[in-house]
Amino acid sequence: MKELQKEGFHPVIVDDLSEGHRKAVSVDSFHQISLADREALQEMFRKEPVDAVVHFAAHCYVGESMEDPLKYYRNNAANALNLLEASVEAGVRRFVFSSTCATYGDPVRLPLREDHPQKPVNVYGDTKLVVEGMLRALDRSHGFRSVILRYFNASGADPEGMIGEDHDPETHLIPLVLQVALGQREKIKIFGDDYDTPDGTCVRDYIHVVDLARAHVLALRHLADGGGSDAFNVGTGKGFSVSEVIEASRRVTGHPIPAEVDPRRPGDPAELVADSSRIQKTLGWEPRFTDAEEIIRTAWNWHRNHPDGYSD
Ligand code: UDP
Repeated sequence: MKELQKEGFHPVIVDDLSEGHRKAVSVDSFHQISLADREALQEMFRKEPVDAVVHFAAHCYVGESMEDPLKYYRNNAANALNLLEASVEAGVRRFVFSSTCATYGDPVRLPLREDHPQKPVNVYGDTKLVVEGMLRALDRSHGFRSVILRYFNASGADPEGMIGEDHDPETHLIPLVLQVALGQREKIKIFGDDYDTPDGTCVRDYIHVVDLARAHVLALRHLADGGGSDAFNVGTGKGFSVSEVIEASRRVTGHPIPAEVDPRRPGDPAELVADSSRIQKTLGWEPRFTDAEEIIRTAWNWHRNHPDGYSD
């Protein structure tokens, strides 16, 4: 939202606030609507002159998606279908979709390129891939152009300190580690240390939210300039293991951050690292935050100043 506003766009925000926070958005046009409510969506499109849709809303916990798969199909796939139908009906023909590296599944080649086989190993990835399929079909049938952004591990916080993560329950590694540093949790659990990686813990490509946000602005420009549908990885190309993230967090916070090894979490591939040369070449995007400590520092700044998230 902030990046769009800086670039002269006029964002209209639609959110059911089931997981988001009203305080995180400062826009003139806000609609508290669930994507399950097709009529409310149609009405919103009647009221607002929308040129393009950026679809972020989804459940995004790998572990939960394995335990409650239909919750994920309902929200991530069926509700996305509602949004696509309403967009097509309203004459919108440009769409940016938040997809995920989880659509690739267990890598057969690293770093992951966009043409890597997409065989998710968790339900979260399955549901995102379903929407990628809808978008490809709509391009053929309706000339509906879309940019699919396959996020790697979104992390960090607004460097200006206004926006940060506040999930309940929190399941993501960096905020959990920082909650230990704040004394809100006793220790961090490392989900498996027997993976085929240099230190045995899972390796992920942590991409700062500001770099991710800039990818959306460039994707919208690409579509506005007549660019065709495409899919891009959004990652730095650098992987950090769970142990490296904990170590970097110890350096940033000065807290010992006790850790213990727990069993593997179902649905976790050993390593996910992006080859993001396609978005660099096509859209001119480049990551600015490539260092784990630098990313964690922005998150630490948010968590330290908002220990109770948006309720502070
Ligand atoms: N992880 C961990 N302990 C936790 C939370 C996460 O070891 O308490 C690991 C998880 O297994 C994965 C990595 O940290 O390998 C990143 O997980 P996260 O949930 O942050 O993001 P995801 O990779 O699921 O998108």
